[in-house]
Amino acid sequence: MMQDHLVVSDDSNHPANMVCSLSRQFYEKEWCVGTGGSIAIRDEETGFCYLAPSGVQKELLKPQDLFVLDGNSKEQDVYLRKPAGLKLSDCTPIFQMLFQNFNAGAIIHTHSPNAVLTSLLYDDVFEISHIEQIKALPSERVNAETGKPVNLLFEDTLKIPIIDNQNFEYELTDGLQEMCQKWPHGCAVLVRRHGIFVWGPSITKAKIYNESIDYLLGLAIKMHQLGIPTVKKN
Ligand SMILES: [Zn+2]
Repeated sequence: MMQDHLVVSDDSNHPANMVCSLSRQFYEKEWCVGTGGSIAIRDEETGFCYLAPSGVQKELLKPQDLFVLDGNSKEQDVYLRKPAGLKLSDCTPIFQMLFQNFNAGAIIHTHSPNAVLTSLLYDDVFEISHIEQIKALPSERVNAETGKPVNLLFEDTLKIPIIDNQNFEYELTDGLQEMCQKWPHGCAVLVRRHGIFVWGPSITKAKIYNESIDYLLGLAIKMHQLGIPTVKKN
């Protein structure tokens, strides 16, 4: 049973359509080339998680290629839809961990050149301060009335932990989980010589975080080339 009704929709904001349209955009930005990278979205209403398969070029991805995981199930690996002839992405255990343990609504994984280069310029943590764009990213502070996280301010420092790469993507799951526990308000982890994982409560937020971080990583590389420190003292 292919359960196509779970992925076929005229609504451009349907998670299955969003996974495909963003994959094309990210391919064009060279964040997801040659089948690298992946996007997963959890539908806020149904709790179903839409996952891109392994081995399909991102610019050619169709809604019918997507796996649908039941995000409401207490058990792992309850699939409502498995496309014939396709394999799950190697990132799937990482996505499941972020959906289940850290309440992610969407996860973006790219092999962005800016992420790979930055991971070679910093040891354990990437840091940048006093750049307007960091205001697009969440801080450790919460709004006293709503309890929701508030974003960084211009003079704050954005910090993103860096973990070392492994031979297989699923082997990154434990390292990523450890960083999420250590940085509970974080929204990203860099993987050295590999790329970045970015997540948020919704795909809209995750996309804003991912674009803003990539812009900041690109600036940091140029600042490094010009001998300008990325964290401004005073
Ligand atoms: Zn990857």
